[in-house]
Amino acid sequence: MELNLILFGPPGAGKGTQSEYLTAKYQLVHLSTGDIFRANIKGETDLGKQAKAFMDKGELVPDSLTIALLESEVNKHADAKGFIFDGFPRTQAQATALDQFLESKGSSITCLVALEVEEEELRARLLNRGKTSGRPDDVNPEIIQNRIDVYQRETCPVADHYGAQGKYKGVNGIGSIEEIAQRLCEAIDAARVSAN
Ligand code: AMP
Repeated sequence: MELNLILFGPPGAGKGTQSEYLTAKYQLVHLSTGDIFRANIKGETDLGKQAKAFMDKGELVPDSLTIALLESEVNKHADAKGFIFDGFPRTQAQATALDQFLESKGSSITCLVALEVEEEELRARLLNRGKTSGRPDDVNPEIIQNRIDVYQRETCPVADHYGAQGKYKGVNGIGSIEEIAQRLCEAIDAARVSAN
């Protein structure tokens, strides 16, 4: 059975860092919509130009664009043992589209693991990351706040969506990288057992 994980959490929760570890451990394909958008911005593609206008303001890229992108990325990896979706789905519409898309392939989400970090800590982490990440959306406190607000307004319902399916696992996102990785693995392994 495939292992399809959603690594969930607010901006600055540590999704990118933990994705690297989980991808290697479970041998999954890592799909970060934010990374894919940034690669398109760098390559100056049409998609990159469209996405940049939203990203620079800390707004979400429209669902139609994001869902089409995600589906085409999944389709590039027909032999995958499963996926880590990082930064996707970010809206209720994206979650519904993802479920339908996976179902059409005879597959499904195994679980959503959520990194829980309080808001004050997120603001500090993102400002700090802005010193080295080269990401324009990590530098300005107003844009950071907008991303956190958008998360609360539009993305939190995704957690309820998977909660209603019994697939939500919350994990404390404060601690060392290894401690948090350990907590994630425990949650994932438990979900895997109950899914089989
Ligand atoms: P991230 O790297 O996940 O923090 O994403 C950076 C930015 O890319 C976000 O603030 C959004 O503007 C955009 N983005 C990434 N993933 C999505 C998504 N699933 N839906 C809409 N916008 C997204």
